[in-house]
Amino acid sequence: MSANKVYLLDGGTLVIDGYHAFWNRGPGGELRFPCYAILIDHPDGLYIFDTGYDHAHVERVLPFEKPLQTEAQTIPGQLATVGLRPSDINYVINSHYHFDHCGGNIHLTEACTLCHAKELEACASPHPFEMLGYSDVRFSPDISAKRGAPAEPALDIYTPKFETLTNDQEIAKGMWLFETPGHTAGHYSLMVELPDRRPMLFSADACYSKQNMDLMCISSFHLDPVASLQSMERLKELAEKYDAELFYSHDPASYPDYLLAPAFYS
Ligand SMILES: [Zn+2]
Repeated sequence: MSANKVYLLDGGTLVIDGYHAFWNRGPGGELRFPCYAILIDHPDGLYIFDTGYDHAHVERVLPFEKPLQTEAQTIPGQLATVGLRPSDINYVINSHYHFDHCGGNIHLTEACTLCHAKELEACASPHPFEMLGYSDVRFSPDISAKRGAPAEPALDIYTPKFETLTNDQEIAKGMWLFETPGHTAGHYSLMVELPDRRPMLFSADACYSKQNMDLMCISSFHLDPVASLQSMERLKELAEKYDAELFYSHDPASYPDYLLAPAFYS
């Protein structure tokens, strides 16, 4: 049996410059964009794909991204809207480990974490230009210690289990992780099949927005721009092959049309 329901959990907004959202193209100026997590209710368990950002972390480390996030837009707040507690979640999947995709992991203390093996390596030893992207590594006390992050009380109770993957994987019936590197070393996009609609293909940061896709313009936060472009091509091909609907990670124009929890896709 494939997944029963997919919920999009709103996580608030951040700001970047237009030249970062559309690399070497712009236009420049503040661009406010949404962040969200994806909750999948599957017969094998409850999965969350990406967990948004932690407001306190962004205020402390990247205040220039001007985070706007209410209590209701945190992972515990969003799960409450669908009658769940963080401890109910069985699996966390991280597309990659930039701070705006893993900030809520620390709440999901009972979950097993799935990610690409290369991504876990990359965030433990980032390149100098990736330091801010990989600034919130509290999801792993081991990596926090290796990176020399100050000890945080919350981590004493948090000992996550990791399962690392490589290649494309069907992690549960009708739930596919597709390798889409370039933005980061071990980036995964996710496709979820549902009984009564087209499959949902979540690009994550392999493509921020429909406009990025239409222009074939990558964002400036990347490890490898050529691989990023190839991953965007791959997403287009996957969408065509599976007749899947693309959902973008940070798309201010498309986001108002997305159904947000407690509403769901099924
Ligand atoms: Zn992102």
